[in-house]
Amino acid sequence: MIDLQQQLASNLGTVQQRIKAAALRSGRQAQDVDLIAVCKYVSSDITAALVSAGCQQLGESRPQQLWDKRKTLAHLSIRWHMIGHLQRNKVQRTVSSLTMLHSGDSMRLLRAVNEATSGHRERLPVLIQVNISGEASKHGFPPQEIASLLAEISLLESLSVRGLMTMATLGASPDETRRDFERLRTLRDQLKTNCPDTIQLDELSMGMSGDFELAIEEGATLVRVGSALFEGISTD
Ligand SMILES: *Cc1c(COP(=O)(O)O)cnc(C)c1O
Repeated sequence: MIDLQQQLASNLGTVQQRIKAAALRSGRQAQDVDLIAVCKYVSSDITAALVSAGCQQLGESRPQQLWDKRKTLAHLSIRWHMIGHLQRNKVQRTVSSLTMLHSGDSMRLLRAVNEATSGHRERLPVLIQVNISGEASKHGFPPQEIASLLAEISLLESLSVRGLMTMATLGASPDETRRDFERLRTLRDQLKTNCPDTIQLDELSMGMSGDFELAIEEGATLVRVGSALFEGISTD
């Protein structure tokens, strides 16, 4: 049996190769796409092993898990990304030493995050989460509402908006999935034409284990990959 560290290094190498190949297909370089390793399925020990294997940017979708691991792994150099829905009563504890909030999914949340961040740290990088598929189960802004909110969002002086985030339609075919990603990029391009100076829209956080290559081909700059990194590893 090959050991945990070897298996993680091998999985990571495979994912990095696939990211690089997809980036080249989209006319970009491997370093134009950041891998956010989603560690929600695994313990702190396995997470630490992944950091040793060379992953420094980690994502969690549940605040409690983020808090626990941030504490347990405080001795490691990790950049934490919050990628899942954040309830407003958990904002305060989450935003300190966060690298980026991907799941800016409502005005109420953005305002709460702005308030919690104000005076405590430099501007917090956030992404506007878009419900591109329109599924009722998904969080995020309806695409057509964002243009009219940009002016208001630009007034949140403790946030630094960097781009958009989405998830593709659940269970969709590769063609439909690609169209979801293409729609996010097109939306970003449209919003850019009439965007307040303080809002940047360069980042596109899209793509998970099942679809990150499609996402990169459609312009993703951040991919959030979980299960592909932990194949062959017992997570219980
Ligand atoms: C879990 C999760 C991911 C990673 O999913 P995998 O399919 O395991 O790669 C990405 N983004 C979000 C928002 C998630 O909750």
